[in-house]
Amino acid sequence: MSVAAAPLPKAPITPECFDDVAFDLDGVLTKTALVHEAAWKRIFDEYIEHRARLDSPVEPTDGPLHPSAIPVPEPDSLDKAGEAGPWTLSYEGFNPALEGRREALFTLGNGYFATRGAAAEAVSDGIHYPGTYLAGGYNRLTTEIGGRAVEHEDLVNWPNWLPLAVRSDEGASEWFSPGSTAGLLQYRQDLDLRRGLYRRCVRFRDAVGRVTRLEECRFVHMQEKHLAGIRLRVTAENWSGRLLVRSSIDGRVTNAGVLRYKPFNGRHVEIFDSPVVGSDTILIEAQTVQSRLRVAEAARTRLYRNGQPFDSDRVVVREPGLIGQELTLTLAQGESVDVEKIVALYASRDQAIADARTEALTTLSRASRFADLVRSHTLGWVQLWRRCDLGFVQVRSESDHHTHRIVRLHIFHLLQAVSPHTIDLDAGVPARGWTGEAYRGHIFWDELFIFPFLNHRLPKLTRALLLYRWRRLPEARWAAREAGYRGAMFPWQSGSNGREETDVMFLNPRSGSWIRDNTRLQRHVNAAIVFNVWQYYRATGDSEFLYVYGAELMLEIARFWSSMAQWNPDRARYEIRGVMGPDEFHDAFPGVVMPGLKNNAYTNVMAAWCLERALRLFDILPEERCRELCDTLRLERAELLAWRDISRKMFVPFHDDCIISQFEGYEELEEFDWDAYRRRYGNIMRLDLILEAEGDTPNRYKLSKQADVLMLFYLFSTEALVDIFSRLGYPFDGSMIPKNINYYLQRTSHGSTLSGIVHAWVLSRSCRRRSWALFKQALRSDIGDIQDGTTAEGIHLGAMAGTVDLIQRCYTGIELRGDELWFNPLLPHELSRLSFKLRHRGHSLHVDITEDALSVASETVSTEPVALRLKGEAHRLAPGETVQIALAETARRLKQ
Ligand code: BGC
Repeated sequence: MSVAAAPLPKAPITPECFDDVAFDLDGVLTKTALVHEAAWKRIFDEYIEHRARLDSPVEPTDGPLHPSAIPVPEPDSLDKAGEAGPWTLSYEGFNPALEGRREALFTLGNGYFATRGAAAEAVSDGIHYPGTYLAGGYNRLTTEIGGRAVEHEDLVNWPNWLPLAVRSDEGASEWFSPGSTAGLLQYRQDLDLRRGLYRRCVRFRDAVGRVTRLEECRFVHMQEKHLAGIRLRVTAENWSGRLLVRSSIDGRVTNAGVLRYKPFNGRHVEIFDSPVVGSDTILIEAQTVQSRLRVAEAARTRLYRNGQPFDSDRVVVREPGLIGQELTLTLAQGESVDVEKIVALYASRDQAIADARTEALTTLSRASRFADLVRSHTLGWVQLWRRCDLGFVQVRSESDHHTHRIVRLHIFHLLQAVSPHTIDLDAGVPARGWTGEAYRGHIFWDELFIFPFLNHRLPKLTRALLLYRWRRLPEARWAAREAGYRGAMFPWQSGSNGREETDVMFLNPRSGSWIRDNTRLQRHVNAAIVFNVWQYYRATGDSEFLYVYGAELMLEIARFWSSMAQWNPDRARYEIRGVMGPDEFHDAFPGVVMPGLKNNAYTNVMAAWCLERALRLFDILPEERCRELCDTLRLERAELLAWRDISRKMFVPFHDDCIISQFEGYEELEEFDWDAYRRRYGNIMRLDLILEAEGDTPNRYKLSKQADVLMLFYLFSTEALVDIFSRLGYPFDGSMIPKNINYYLQRTSHGSTLSGIVHAWVLSRSCRRRSWALFKQALRSDIGDIQDGTTAEGIHLGAMAGTVDLIQRCYTGIELRGDELWFNPLLPHELSRLSFKLRHRGHSLHVDITEDALSVASETVSTEPVALRLKGEAHRLAPGETVQIALAETARRLKQ
């Protein structure tokens, strides 16, 4: 039956009838607002859910922070990260020999705590080494070695919160493990530097032929410092049935991450309690045996299917030191289930807490879902990157972004070791980050390489880290007194309370012998502290800091140097004896039993500089404060006069006319046969270990582990050195610099990752190609594990920061001189453009450097104008202004 269509009622269109009108695509006006709204809502909801599942929560809007392209998988070459854009570090394939290195490189941290990038199902087994470290969380133990009780303070490895393992419910299937599961079909690890996310994608076929895909995503929260999380998406590719998931916290950990420390006791923590709380939460409370630091880790494990929560049977797994839950899931073929494990970690030393356990459970109960946490975590990183990224590094002829990616990896590790969360902690900045147990998590002079980056990015952090030193002044005063000196003598290796933590002996793995460790004689660490205080003050103008803390540090260290200096009437010079310079290969003069060298040039020059700088404080600080400090420290006029004398008459050894001798008598040492050793051993970075194993000693030869004399050219400009040497009454001119560089470069094995940084720096003006080659070598320090296995024990933070600073200050010629910020760029040929932000005295400066032009813009709204000098031209830059100069002249000259 056909029905004639009834004519549609005509709707009167008057403004009173509609708030708004929308025409559909046919140009028809309909009354369908609610239908449209519901449809759009559904589409948006689906899209948001889809994005949440993809983990792309926040797309930052400013240029340099746009996400890289989706990582492109690449076959794994042994130590080369996959080529996946400048924001992602990727590895394809499982390689047991490289797992330790990747774990260190993939560590996630937030300046409060850090967790190595170990596989979620892994235990410490010689291939994997899960490690969770609290910034500055130390404990002391005593071990009997060679009949002696040796005390050692270690960065503590806390219970492992990662464990999340799966296995088939059928037959004799085992828990999946990439090392033992025969049917490993795919294994890929990605580190998303921009968002601070670790991702792993695994496909495997188990013993009964079931192919399962695991997609893991992990964070250690950059905003909410107590939180971390993993989401594991499990997909049944070709099967349907049951799957077991085990989620646990493993408190059976010890400190066992460094093979050389195996003879030392590593049992730092005791487990106090490990309950199941409610239906889905497990908790472990652990405490260190000596420092009585208590940590509570609580983990909540929940399941989601298509984004909706569901539960399953849960069985409690309880083993000594371990608490877990086993969940049984049923999956249809092709179906995915998300397992979300959210973790809260608190320590008894935290501020604003009742107790660690209460806070961990409370915070966890309030924590939202994984995707929400990733969103806020990502925001934390985006904000950090805005300040800290070297956003635009254009590398000629390197289309693969490799250099840029590694520079970012290095910034990433710096910000994980020390972040705004560190400001309220009493923690220093450790040589190996919180990524492993090498050097027992101690703090060295490496700050010298790390602070320049922070001074120009997050100066509040430098301030907090300098306070770590200031709080340890009483211990340093005591150490000076015990050694027969005055003032404050800071230790070579520092940990909890600032006493000397350097081991007494170290094991040479080549020979199996225990060797006396005299590196504590590196008193130059004290000069580094003064240098750091001074640089921080110059960069920020923070006179309040200098007034309250910095001056006291400087004066007490100056006093220490003055008490170390001895007058030699024959020379009419002051001398410093019984020390080691930065080169750790020389700890005594050949044939002399007493450890320590005479007149290490670097130490002597730095001591004189410290004394001169300390005296300068009296021109800077208000008279009242000077009087207060003199009264408190009992500083008399006669003592200050003596400082002035020492600062002018310190001895500096020279030989061959204009070569600054590394130490007195250096020229008498034998030349070393570099070629023969290179032929015999290949890698001769650690000549100390090679020679000791041969029954020889590096003390006999003209060879260095790392830059020593050349440190002076690293720290000071030519003009500053001319001033320093002329004050000391030694002739010095710029022509001596290349001669000294050449001399020592030939005699250095670069056995420390810091060495390449210094050499790249000092060669940056005279030999740009060599400088770039050394920079590239320094970039490989950890990603290429150039020291054969040390990266697995922890990344090298000093070298990482040093490479970033080479880009930031060296190739740009950025220098703090008086109240002015100098720019004197000379980009390596390989860099066509640099563009980044810099903080200086309250200004946020945008710096852009090409071959032809340098421009500096102040993005600050209100503060005093800042004094700049661009290639010698003086400028005053007010907020909101830009200054620009042409560099074409330089470029032309260089091309000629
Ligand atoms: C270097 C030192 C450095 C230490 C920690 C040693 O190998 O010789 O200069 O401070 O490592 O990074």
